[in-house]
Amino acid sequence: MRGDIIVQKYGGTSVANVERIMHVAERVVKTKKNGYKVVVVVSALGDTTDELIALANRITDEPPERELDMLMATGEQVSSALLAMAIQKIGEEAISFTGAQVGIMTDRAHTKARIQGVDAKRILKELEKDRIVIVAGFQGITEDQEITTLGRGGSNITAVALAAVLKAQECEMNTDVDGVYTADPRIVKDARKIDQISYEEMLEMASSGAQVLQARSIEAASKFGVRIHVRGTFHETEGTIISKEVRAMENVLVSGITLTKNEAKVTVCDVPDKPGSAAKIFEMLGEANINVDMIIQNVSRTGATDVSFTVPRDELAKTLKVANKVSGEIGAHGVTYDEEMAKVSAIGIGMRSHSGVAATMFKTLADEGINIDMISTSEIKISCVIKKTNGEKAVKALHKAFDLGKKS
Ligand code: ADP
Ligand code: ASP
Ligand code: MG
Repeated sequence: MRGDIIVQKYGGTSVANVERIMHVAERVVKTKKNGYKVVVVVSALGDTTDELIALANRITDEPPERELDMLMATGEQVSSALLAMAIQKIGEEAISFTGAQVGIMTDRAHTKARIQGVDAKRILKELEKDRIVIVAGFQGITEDQEITTLGRGGSNITAVALAAVLKAQECEMNTDVDGVYTADPRIVKDARKIDQISYEEMLEMASSGAQVLQARSIEAASKFGVRIHVRGTFHETEGTIISKEVRAMENVLVSGITLTKNEAKVTVCDVPDKPGSAAKIFEMLGEANINVDMIIQNVSRTGATDVSFTVPRDELAKTLKVANKVSGEIGAHGVTYDEEMAKVSAIGIGMRSHSGVAATMFKTLADEGINIDMISTSEIKISCVIKKTNGEKAVKALHKAFDLGKKS
């Protein structure tokens, strides 16, 4: 009965100004005229969220997270109301809602809350009235009526959650590029649009730098079987379908190359080589809520060994505080760091059944004269930490080495 619902998310660049909002309104109305019930999720206009955070930082270095959520949630309230007005102006009925109004319930983790449930009654009632429903992305409400936000890029997860509870036919993610590419098209000019990709690969791509979708939203889509269609707001073409693995995908060795430029490497020096040292370091980092990515520990020859790990650069200050403290406690010899690191990754489910990807990757970087600082692998991904200044060069070289460019 509800198979005709479609959820469309529009990102910040898609609604950056009044002209674009009018364009989005036209597109939404067109979808409705094609026979769908449309639920729209919007991000804040352009860089609004960054601007709001910057404003808070002019008052204090550490804005209280509850108030930060109150502040950031306003961004999406503005865009959803404006889009509702734009749609009404062109003659369709539309109504906008905050996350709280449509029962997007979350836990209490301010600035990175998780959705715990959605009560779709209100939305369904409005859809029955033949209205287009617009929901402010990126926000929810706790049991005790506190406004929360869902982490940066969180409108994606709002859209997936709504698509799941409404059993929508598809969750469209409309953005400034017309799909997911084999590498960030801003870096690699001949990057190719991917027609179809598995949840698994997209999750690895998103969590290793392809900012086009938020990693958590793909996790949720995979869990609830929501089909995602990444499309261009300003394009009419088909985009990229993200769904369960299909056979044809297995023939592709590497699907994409990604880059994150905001890595910091921290080394705890001469950690005594005895049980419990590493546990203590990572236990304390965990307690401080720091997201540790890669970890390496060398073989000890002298009874002590260096332990290195990477963290997002904006968590470096917090990390150094904890690392210095723990270094003293476990009898290590201090902490060094390098904040100018990047991580380049090759992703593809074909790696499961083919060997040699790692060798090609290392050789390609070597031929470019790029030194590898750290390596980590999963079943379908290989990542190398390198100097940030080499980041884009590495992506271009790997994209070429794995033959991912447009075929002429
Ligand atoms: P939105 O405002 O719609 O949320 P984002 O700016 O968050 O959009 O994400 C879209 C951007 O992601 C694109 O402009 C593109 O440069 C970048 N991007 C990075 N990697 C990829 C990739 N592999 N495929 C497509 N886009 C990518
Ligand atoms: N406006 C929020 C952000 O910039 C959420 C989103 O765009 O998805 O992170
Ligand atoms: Mg985004």
